[in-house]
Amino acid sequence: MWFRQDLRLHDNEALLDALTHAEEVFPVYVFDERTFKACTAHGIPRMGSHRARFILESVNDLKDNLHRLGGTLHIAVGHPEEVLFELARKWQVSWICCNRERTRDEVLVQECLERQLWSIGVELRFSRGKMLYYTQDLPFPITHMPTSYSQFRKEVERIVPVRQPLAAPDHIPMAIQPETSSALPVHWVRTACPGIAWQQTPRFSGGESHAQAKVSHLLRENKGGITNSKEAFSGVIPSAEVSPWLSQGCLSPKWLYHEWRRFTEEHEGNEDTNGLFLKLLWRDYFRLIGKKFGNNIFRRTGIRGKAGQTVSLDKERFKTWASGRTGIPLVDASMRELNTTGFLTEKSRQWAAGYLVHELGLDWRLGAEYFECQLIDYDPCSNWGNWMTIAGAGPDHRDDRPVNFLSQARKFDPSGAYVRLWIPALQHVPNQWVHTPDQIPEGELECYGLRKDQGYTAPSFG
Ligand SMILES: Cc1cc2nc3c(=O)[nH]c(=O)nc-3n(C[C@H](O)[C@H](O)[C@H](O)COP(=O)(O)OP(=O)(O)OC[C@H]3O[C@@H](n4cnc5c(N)ncnc54)[C@H](O)[C@@H]3O)c2cc1C
Repeated sequence: MWFRQDLRLHDNEALLDALTHAEEVFPVYVFDERTFKACTAHGIPRMGSHRARFILESVNDLKDNLHRLGGTLHIAVGHPEEVLFELARKWQVSWICCNRERTRDEVLVQECLERQLWSIGVELRFSRGKMLYYTQDLPFPITHMPTSYSQFRKEVERIVPVRQPLAAPDHIPMAIQPETSSALPVHWVRTACPGIAWQQTPRFSGGESHAQAKVSHLLRENKGGITNSKEAFSGVIPSAEVSPWLSQGCLSPKWLYHEWRRFTEEHEGNEDTNGLFLKLLWRDYFRLIGKKFGNNIFRRTGIRGKAGQTVSLDKERFKTWASGRTGIPLVDASMRELNTTGFLTEKSRQWAAGYLVHELGLDWRLGAEYFECQLIDYDPCSNWGNWMTIAGAGPDHRDDRPVNFLSQARKFDPSGAYVRLWIPALQHVPNQWVHTPDQIPEGELECYGLRKDQGYTAPSFG
């Protein structure tokens, strides 16, 4: 059983497939050197320290959970297609089971492994498990998948039931313990992705156990009304904050959906906002868009295929944005939060992306690559799909407008609490200027701990 972005025992179709067909199951996870050490097309590291830590924790949790069921997780570093091929030969396995991935790099790896396995008569068996829905349950073939979210939602929301999640196994049969290495490559990962910080009580601890604990806490605390999409915003009303576990597959969307359904049904009187379901639907939507349009989601022209306006790859502008020094407090707070924590609410992602695309005129792929590096919850379809949309190369025309940062600030951060949290230089700036520090009269700068030639100032480019 080859674990990939499905680091869980519950609702894991590939694992159940292996357990149903084989007498013995050897679980394997491979830290792919290319993901942990390589850079993107524009030279940005693909894996930042936040996600690297989260993956280490998730694999460790999986290892413990498998151990409880009698299984030993074999952990390796290298190219999965080579490592698995060698193991298949050494252990003389009949099949390798995995959940199918649909995006460029992951597909290349699984295809390469599949071809190699043919040479020794071993089959790579694929299962599904990424989405809320099964593709075969949809009322249209992928080629006819609606490109607008609202149309997609209309066609599936009330018609397609979400299947029940599969139960977690209670035993992993391993009669002969093969020679395995189950040591976590902590040192290797720390060297490949410098800056990993272990926290006492991290906001996101990787692993299925933490994911399920988080969901039961959420349901108890928020009484099922998690993710009321209109109000969700860090610092004001938090959203569910479950995306890191969904992205690494520590949490199954079907399981999450049914837990939430059961809870809201059992606790009558709680406002059922339907918010979580609609949010999870966005996730399926971008995955299906990725499936329908393939590698176009990674191209500058996106799925529309039109070049649009000329864009820049200016390194200095990009650095100003990435380090949170644009002079627009909402954008800078978002980028500093991202760099510090690896997580952002959707609003902050939209501000950061909107600024890079519409104000700086940079190639949106730079932003998408930077998010790929920094986000704990990086998911190829969700990330590139959302970026493409904001850049006007995606499915929806309505979302590619410039952001009015002042009106967003008035609406979502009227007291300035969010920007003060991430930009200490604004600590003593009164509310009236906290979102427009460039308008503070020069003579008053010093009263608020600011100086014209240093600290938090307006951008120097137009
Ligand atoms: C520029 C940009 C980049 C993004 N990159 C990613 C990414 O790499 N990985 C990722 O999981 N999400 C991404 N998103 C979508 C969204 O911002 C996050 O899923 C959400 O903020 C995660 O927080 P949450 O779990 O509290 O979400 P909630 O609002 O509580 O929603 C619950 C779940 O629904 C899904 N979801 C919600 N909104 C979206 C959306 N717009 N697109 C896809 N799925 C959604 C997520 O799985 C999320 O965990 C991106 C959005 C933007 C604008």
